[in-house]
Amino acid sequence: MGSGPTYRRTRQRDAVLSVLDRFRARRVHPTTDEVYVNVRRTLPRISLATVYRNLDVLAAQGIIQKLGMGCSPVRFDGDPSDHVHIRCVRCGRVDDLDGVHVTPSKDDATTFNGYEVIGLRAEFVGVCDTCRMQHAGKSRTHNDAHRPCSSGGCHAADQGNKN
Ligand SMILES: [Zn+2]
Ligand SMILES: [Zn+2]
Repeated sequence: MGSGPTYRRTRQRDAVLSVLDRFRARRVHPTTDEVYVNVRRTLPRISLATVYRNLDVLAAQGIIQKLGMGCSPVRFDGDPSDHVHIRCVRCGRVDDLDGVHVTPSKDDATTFNGYEVIGLRAEFVGVCDTCRMQHAGKSRTHNDAHRPCSSGGCHAADQGNKN
């Protein structure tokens, strides 16, 4: 007992999960790198690829949420329940939006364009208070807020979200 691949995998998974739990307690939605840096405090030799893999498996199992749309950097959420997020288009920070609920009507819920609805991934975009403060003194055009997401393949994702 205590060694071998299964035990190691479990330890890695537990370490990743407990890091996610700590972020969750602070209502922070970390990037992969932020998770990696914190997991290494417990398991100094773990690789970034292993952390990636564990995050993906946990997300696929519905234990955590993987957040990412269009060109936004992927972030993770230790809280797997359905809730709405808001992401800052300038710094990429993600917060929970309290009191905002998005629910399909009961009739739609079972036949959503032929889909069976099993959950919700909803993300508003905005500019966070920190970024607004930083830009307060500077005269910038309002289009700035959209620049990080206005190129490449991100347009399709943006338009898709509006429906
Ligand atoms: Zn920001
Ligand atoms: Zn969240």
